[in-house]
Amino acid sequence: EPMIQVENLCKRFNTKGGTVEAAKNISFSIEKGEIFGIIGLSGAGKSTLVRCLNLLERPTSGTVRVNGKNLTELSEKELRKERQKIGMIFQHFNLLMQRTALDNVCFPMEIAGIKKAEARKKALEYLKIVGLEEKALSYPSQLSGGQKQRVAIARVLASDPQILLCDEATSALDPQTTKAILELIKEINRDYEITVVVITHEMSVVQEICDKVAVLERGALVETGTVEELFRNP
Ligand code: ADP
Ligand code: ADP
Repeated sequence: EPMIQVENLCKRFNTKGGTVEAAKNISFSIEKGEIFGIIGLSGAGKSTLVRCLNLLERPTSGTVRVNGKNLTELSEKELRKERQKIGMIFQHFNLLMQRTALDNVCFPMEIAGIKKAEARKKALEYLKIVGLEEKALSYPSQLSGGQKQRVAIARVLASDPQILLCDEATSALDPQTTKAILELIKEINRDYEITVVVITHEMSVVQEICDKVAVLERGALVETGTVEELFRNP
């Protein structure tokens, strides 16, 4: 069974100006271990769709299955448990500015009740994996964009996710740093068997790392296929 299966997903927002259909009857599935790209212009519905995958946003209708479980049917408690399997990284990194890199990585572990000493030990291991061990005691303001995203990746790895959602994770980075972060995401996918969903407006990003791609246009999924299928010259 697929890792993620979305069926007939619709999301409408009611605004003063009327109803916005941000997701129109979207269906697709993502296999375990895949790197799956969702590409579209600004306003196409990418954020809405990815937020529906962990139910940060509740679909108006349709289903989202993760590992066979229909998230829309779960109780709050069950949903919290399933959500722990889904990590996310963002365009602007979302680090805590008052905490060091190490403490940023520790933070979710502390919330999960892991003892401070153990959390620090694990955090250092993850910082090493992302190549940032020597910056453990630096604050985010002392780090470059690429280094900040590495901290965010170490933090998400510390929660041992099965799925990693990347919402425009390289959009604030220069091309060279983008390449390095995409390489790191590829490594994580390979070494930890984490299924990756990449949201982007950049063709080059999906061409670089995605196995499969879905193209979003004004809330509708207009095409799905392998990178080769989608980018093949006619
Ligand atoms: P993208 O991530 O591709 O830029 P979004 O998912 O952010 O697209 O937005 C898709 C559409 O849904 C846009 O028209 C946006 O204005 C609208 N939208 C997104 N979130 C909300 C919201 N909370 N309330 C009303 N409209 C929204
Ligand atoms: P992105 O393109 O990365 O989605 P946006 O600026 O479109 O960034 O959206 C940022 C946040 O604002 C999202 O949480 C989105 O759901 C919300 N949002 C987007 N459009 C609207 C809107 N028209 N009304 C209310 N909230 C919106």
